[in-house]
Amino acid sequence: MKIKNLCILGSTGSIGTQTLDVVRTYPERYSVYALCANRSVDKLVAQALEFKPEVVCIADESLYDELSRQLSAIGFEGKIWVGADSIAEMVTMPSIDIVVASMVGYAGLRPTIEAIKAGKTIALANKETLVVAGEIICELAQQYHAPILPVDSEHSAIFQSLVGEDRSEIEKILLTASGGPFRTYSLDQMRTVTASDALKHPNWDMGAKITIDSASMMNKGFEVIEAKWLFGVPVEKIQVLVHPQSIVHSAVQFTDGAIKAQLGAPDMRLPIQYALSFPERLKSDFPRADLFTLGSLTFEEPDMKRFPNLGLAYEAMRRGGNIPCVLNAANEVVNLAFREGRCGFLQMSDIIAETMVKAAFIAKPTYEDYVATDAAARRIAEQYL
Ligand code: MG
Repeated sequence: MKIKNLCILGSTGSIGTQTLDVVRTYPERYSVYALCANRSVDKLVAQALEFKPEVVCIADESLYDELSRQLSAIGFEGKIWVGADSIAEMVTMPSIDIVVASMVGYAGLRPTIEAIKAGKTIALANKETLVVAGEIICELAQQYHAPILPVDSEHSAIFQSLVGEDRSEIEKILLTASGGPFRTYSLDQMRTVTASDALKHPNWDMGAKITIDSASMMNKGFEVIEAKWLFGVPVEKIQVLVHPQSIVHSAVQFTDGAIKAQLGAPDMRLPIQYALSFPERLKSDFPRADLFTLGSLTFEEPDMKRFPNLGLAYEAMRRGGNIPCVLNAANEVVNLAFREGRCGFLQMSDIIAETMVKAAFIAKPTYEDYVATDAAARRIAEQYL
């Protein structure tokens, strides 16, 4: 068996560290060739010491000296790179087989595009990439024969349900959502919630940005867009179901009425491992979902009044062009502002909606248009804070 060389973007984040858990379990299958973090120098150095990559990279240029000092102190002999240009170059290195794209937010777009152009297999955890530029990403993936394997649990479930199936026979995608910590809150209660309330996700342990997106259901809106691009299904055929137990990770309904779903305990290591090992399944000792203990699984319709972000995501896709990019940029601004106490919970959706109205529409954006749209939308959203 040939060892697969991994490049992990966002290696110190939630998906990155869980990817390294999988590598630790299967050292005969996976080796870490390159590690990249945004700002977490200490964690990155500890990972370099353990996994001995050829390249270590930090996105934040101001941390280069500190990273170099710490890496030389542990006797690291590989390359030390810094900044966005280096990341874009790193992902194309010939020895790399799989790029795990788990950076947070818009920053994941450029390296993902470069990795696709280099024909790498992409284990995609950065959903913002598909939200912002799904059309370009899918066209490039076809052109350069770069497989995109979903790491997001819902999309992994859909992907697993589609193994052996013809995609033209999909009638509907049933995308499940936990509903987040405010599922049962009234609008009045939601007005006063804080970031620390929102960071208590009932089922999943994730990074801060995505946990806030889950609480506001923007995460689910993004996942609808992500599913559209990954599986070629129009958003009208993607139905969100609130499923508080997070056991059914998503399902596909086919034209004959059959529904296939993937179930399991909420543990991101399973979809990560499946993306790395596909089409094989590897043994694991991850916790099992015990259906007897669970007893019952429930499903309810999402409430678009209390969670307008979901509606905004559908609207962004209906309008198309650069509007999903506007949606993402405005969301990154308000998500951070909410975490820093500069924006109320419900105010986040209002600002995103306003930004979608104010931003200039481009029907068929190029990569450069996306870059300009992202910057413009951020400026507009900031003005409302
Ligand atoms: Mg998800």
